[in-house]
Amino acid sequence: MNNHNSFRHAVVMGAGPAGLTTAYELSKHGIGATVLEKDPEYVGGIARTAQHNGYRFDIGGHRFFSKNLEVEDLWTEILGDEMLTCNRLSRIYYRGKYFDYPLKATNALLSLGPVETVRCMASYAWAKLTPVREPRNLEDWVRNQFGERLFQIFFKTYTEKVWGISTSELSADWAAQRIKGLDLTQVLKNALLPPRELKERGEVIKTLIDEFRYPRFGPGQLWETVRDLMAERGQPVQMGQTVERIRHENGRVVSVEVRDQAGSVRQVRGSDFVSSLPVRELVLKLDPAPPRAVLAAARSLSYRDFLSVVLMIRRRELFPDNWIYIHEPGVQVGRIQNFKNWSRWMVPDEETTCLGLEYFCFEDDQLWKSTDEELIALGTREVVQLGMCERAEIFDGAVVRQRKAYPVYDDVYLDHLGTIRQWLDANVPNLHLCGRNGMHKYNNQDHSMLTALLVARNIAGVTKLDPWKVNADAEYHEEVRDGEQDLSGRQMPSRVREEEPVA
Ligand SMILES: Cc1cc2nc3c(=O)[nH]c(=O)nc-3n(C[C@H](O)[C@H](O)[C@H](O)COP(=O)(O)OP(=O)(O)OC[C@H]3O[C@@H](n4cnc5c(N)ncnc54)[C@H](O)[C@@H]3O)c2cc1C
Repeated sequence: MNNHNSFRHAVVMGAGPAGLTTAYELSKHGIGATVLEKDPEYVGGIARTAQHNGYRFDIGGHRFFSKNLEVEDLWTEILGDEMLTCNRLSRIYYRGKYFDYPLKATNALLSLGPVETVRCMASYAWAKLTPVREPRNLEDWVRNQFGERLFQIFFKTYTEKVWGISTSELSADWAAQRIKGLDLTQVLKNALLPPRELKERGEVIKTLIDEFRYPRFGPGQLWETVRDLMAERGQPVQMGQTVERIRHENGRVVSVEVRDQAGSVRQVRGSDFVSSLPVRELVLKLDPAPPRAVLAAARSLSYRDFLSVVLMIRRRELFPDNWIYIHEPGVQVGRIQNFKNWSRWMVPDEETTCLGLEYFCFEDDQLWKSTDEELIALGTREVVQLGMCERAEIFDGAVVRQRKAYPVYDDVYLDHLGTIRQWLDANVPNLHLCGRNGMHKYNNQDHSMLTALLVARNIAGVTKLDPWKVNADAEYHEEVRDGEQDLSGRQMPSRVREEEPVA
């Protein structure tokens, strides 16, 4: 919180949902902001909508759904009728068959067929007779609850594609928290008994939501509109401007050093500085550098990257789903988006379809280093192998790469984030962190936006709320105290810990 009342101008690093929400909210309080974005073309960050020859596509697929009504209202305030309501259909594809997602016992067993169903039941019975005592890894935990065969079909391949780690190396904690006490007997009981009535909105389980909102032209439309509104208010977002250094002196950040596309460097000054940059990059850009322990903590933060191969196909309809989870072994693609089924305005020609094939990877993987041509060839091979279309129907393609799509939660990240936060709070209190990578939180847009709203209001002096107390559902939780376990990020699997030495 600021204690100086003189000149107020914020410098906002990044024009993703967090950065743009900060600037938009600050403008409501009469405080100017210079928004610096390194991308020369797109605003919206990971929630941008990229374009290729008239086709529009997301980085992933961005559902607009929030338990936070203020965020929902903000979407309506900015886009009005341009926010469409979509029905959700997403299924699992495995060995030529589609399974409902979220999984439904009767549908799953019917689709597997009688022979496989008997095998799954026998394997479940065997798991119950021979459970792994105190399962520590995900594989043993899921096998205990569902049996080996169902584990192989519905858990193993997709989890390994997303996280790039064998399920035998992933900790059981994540599954235990997400799937709670559920096992096959419970699932079958639920399938046969009438559903319990949901009492309030908060009770709806995330994956069960079958409706969501979506801007007519994709999530980028929201952020392009905010960009345009900011320009109308005399504060255009500065594109192609990479923040390279963050200078601080006497306990305050005083300026950031920015490099433009042509390579020229300038200083941008302000009274408050807001960062949605990945925490690791932010800390390494501080000048003078913070102590070695803080730098080491920043360097230890890690990320998972993501790329999407977009294929344009000359066929009116391929499948009715918004997206499909690919559990099929033998292909690398993890999920396939069908953008036309999100909004028909995402394709320029209704006789065609645009698919986004999602590959989860690390930036030093061979996959990431492949050329666009190689990736389009891979995507083409896989989509044909999956039987979704003919090779001859594919007439165009593009590749979108997203570094640091997912901040990784490993055993040490919370301690290291704590070290960083403590140093920043004590040494540069006019530097405010918000957003997904900006706070190293694996969360959705609504979380990024609410943290940004709080930061803006703190700067304006109208509130004094701690953005770190916003949870994964974009709800503010005052009761989280310093030092308590941080549950504000979505749950994510981590590696099995080393065995505790026996005393
Ligand atoms: C595959 C996938 C699917 C998703 N699906 C959904 C969904 O269905 N619904 C949903 O609500 N959310 C979804 N999300 C999450 C959503 O994309 C993020 O929560 C949101 O984009 C985070 O916004 P942000 O502003 O915090 O960060 P970002 O979007 O990462 O924006 C940060 C911005 O900072 C800029 N920047 C970085 N470094 C610099 C620098 N040095 N100088 C200047 N600028 C810089 C970047 O270019 C970027 O524009 C999904 C994310 C992924 C990866």
